[in-house]
Amino acid sequence: MRKKIIAGNWKMNKLAAEADQFVNDVTGNLPDDDHVEAIICAPFPFLPSLVEKSKGSKLKISAQTMHFEDSGAFTGEVSPSMLQDIGVTHVVIGHSERREQFGETDESVNKKVHAAFNHGLTPIVCVGETLDQREANDTMNHIETQVRKALEGLTEQQIAEVIIAYEPIWAIGTGKTASSEDANDVCMHIRHVVKDIAGKETANQLVIQYGGSVKPANVDELMAQSDIDGALVGGASLEADSFLKLVEAGT
Ligand code: PGA
Repeated sequence: MRKKIIAGNWKMNKLAAEADQFVNDVTGNLPDDDHVEAIICAPFPFLPSLVEKSKGSKLKISAQTMHFEDSGAFTGEVSPSMLQDIGVTHVVIGHSERREQFGETDESVNKKVHAAFNHGLTPIVCVGETLDQREANDTMNHIETQVRKALEGLTEQQIAEVIIAYEPIWAIGTGKTASSEDANDVCMHIRHVVKDIAGKETANQLVIQYGGSVKPANVDELMAQSDIDGALVGGASLEADSFLKLVEAGT
């Protein structure tokens, strides 16, 4: 049985004291259940402190992006080895906000996925269609292209360890959620594509999250779907109570 993985993506929110308080509030209250994993994807300045505060608990700490190079003249960037060095375990790669506003491409996503594995980081790879693509019936094609490019050159073992987050762009931060059935259809399609690339066993191990206006009120229905194995959550992950409810839904 696949685990459920609930990841809170804080984006560019909170100050250091608020971040610490959140982790203090959450760590002691996570469900004692190995079938659910909880991750917070925090801004860079908070990562060392959150890694420290979450030690000994089940909460994992993730970055929201990184560069693919190890070091060098890349002003403002953060490298995979820096994240590994401070004890971060996961990294979000290719979030639609990075793709739309910061020039992330399928090529850079693929390089970053490789870099993550080279540094013992688990990549959470985001894919998703725009409203135009959905209305033009191009969703499945577009998602397939993004998934194939992201996973290019990985071993089957690595593909089994990737987390893919399906996030329809029109549902992010808009309050609009894809219907559970539509979300599940795309997640099934992703698993089908991965089966074609790396075989049935690998595809069955792959964790596929849904993201886009997930909240305590709709999470149960989403988690009940056959191919949705967790959620990547923005807005509803900012309050400890709400985040804990989402994690609880994964049990
Ligand atoms: P949202 O964001 O839950 O606020 O829609 C999801 C995401 O961007 O990961």
